Order: sequence, then C-alpha cells, then structure tokens
Amino acid sequence: MIRQLAVMMGRGKPIEADTKYRREICKVGRWMYRQGFVVASEGNLSVRLDADRVLVTPAGACKGRLLPHELIVTDLQGTVVAGTGQPSSELQMHLLYYRLRPLVRAVCHAHPPTATGFAVAGRALEEAILPEVVSVLDKIPLAPYGTPGTKELCAGLESLVPSYDAILLENHGVVTCGEDLTTAYQHMETVEHFARVLFVAESLGGARFLTHTQVRRLNISRHAQVNSNHSTLNLEMSERRVIRDEDYEDPDEGDSKKAIVSDQLTFSSCTPRRSLKA
Ligand SMILES: [Zn+2]
Repeated sequence: MIRQLAVMMGRGKPIEADTKYRREICKVGRWMYRQGFVVASEGNLSVRLDADRVLVTPAGACKGRLLPHELIVTDLQGTVVAGTGQPSSELQMHLLYYRLRPLVRAVCHAHPPTATGFAVAGRALEEAILPEVVSVLDKIPLAPYGTPGTKELCAGLESLVPSYDAILLENHGVVTCGEDLTTAYQHMETVEHFARVLFVAESLGGARFLTHTQVRRLNISRHAQVNSNHSTLNLEMSERRVIRDEDYEDPDEGDSKKAIVSDQLTFSSCTPRRSLKA
C-alpha cells in the first residue's frame, strides 16, 4: 500500500523543480564539511526527485565546495540521465534505500570521526542511553564491512535498510536516510553526537542505560506524536517499532540472577523474535 502510494506520488514528473534540490544538496554538503563529518572528497548525498530519478553528488568532489550544476541525475538503476562526469561511487548504496524504502526521499553518507571510530572498533551504537536517540533512531546497528563502492557493501546493508534510518558501516563510516535531506543530515548529527556522549560516559566509568519500561514509554510517546503530525515516513517506522515492542522478550522472566540488573538493558537485549524486514 505504502509502495503504491509512493509510486503514484511522483511517476513521470518532478515533484518540485530540480533547482531547489541542487541548492539543498550543496548547502548540506557545506554543513557536513564544516562539521568535519567529511574531508577531501569523502562522503556523498542524494535526493529522490520523483519515482524514476535521483539527484546525486559527483564522484571526487569536495562536499564543502559543490556547485549546483555539478550534480548528476540518474535513474533507479544508476544510469546517468543528466549531467556531466560520474556519479558518486557509492550510488548503489543510495539506490538500495530508494528501492527498499519507497518513502525515503534523501540519503546522506559521511565519515564523522567519533561514530566512525565505533564502526572501526566493530561496535554498534545499540545502548539505550539517550531518550532523543531512542525516539528518533531506535538503535544504530553495524553493517558488516564491504569494499566501498561495491555490491559487497550493499549486501551487508540489505537486511538493515528496511528497519533503520541510521547505520554504521564497519571500518568505513555512517549512512542515514530521511523523508527529506535536512532530516537525513540531522540523523547524521544525532549519530555523531550519540557516539561522543557514549565515549565520554565510558571514559567516566560507563553509561547507565534506560530501563526497558522507559524505552517502552518512549516508543508509545513517539507513536502518538507521529500520528498527530502525519509524518508518513515516521509513521511507517513507528508502526514497525510497535510490532517490535510487542515482540520484546523480557530478559528477566524466570531468571532471578538477571532480575538483579533487570532495569538496565541494551537494545540488543530486546531482540525481536521475528524478522522485521519490510
Ligand atoms: Zn564512505
């Protein structure tokens, strides 16, 4: 149903003029560069223009100095339909999101240093420690390493993309998505901020986790909020999380030893019993 709606929304014609999105990608590229999320020619950004076309950053360009006319338009198979030069070498990763998540309108890939440090250390950001992160992103899983720009990278992401708006890429960086480019970029900021906070907490002796009950309340609150603001992408994600919440196994059931530390959980303690693939 959601997929049909998304296709009906944009097939055959731009939803808005490309110019707006070209300027937006250049602006967000400058934000990423100034924040130190990318250096040199690292990172890439894209926006879904309509049901058939994607606007993406060119290969080898500094994201802090992009010009609107340098951006490339491709179809959903990656064939260039407008622009000179080559699209980003990570285009297939972006197209994976657009194929698997019909309501996603933008993808952001960068190498923010603290979050990337966790990815290099092989650590997902799954601890439930900050309410804002739980509410917005749920957990931030770690996709297995794949050579950048290859099908191997996409293969490692495929099972995670349908359920998560932010994913760490092992020994590489971070990829985020959103219903618009600003949201996708803000998710990148949230991931890096979360990584910094967790790093500091661990240097001070370790983070204290939110309880299972506290996480459940955040999920209920989020569901009510997205129902009131009619955000279709957030509603889609929220519905997935309600299903996941109902599927939580209580790690304390029948285990008195675990009950002693029962109120402190990581998300990985709440693994759903069945696949959440879209
Ligand atoms: Zn990269």
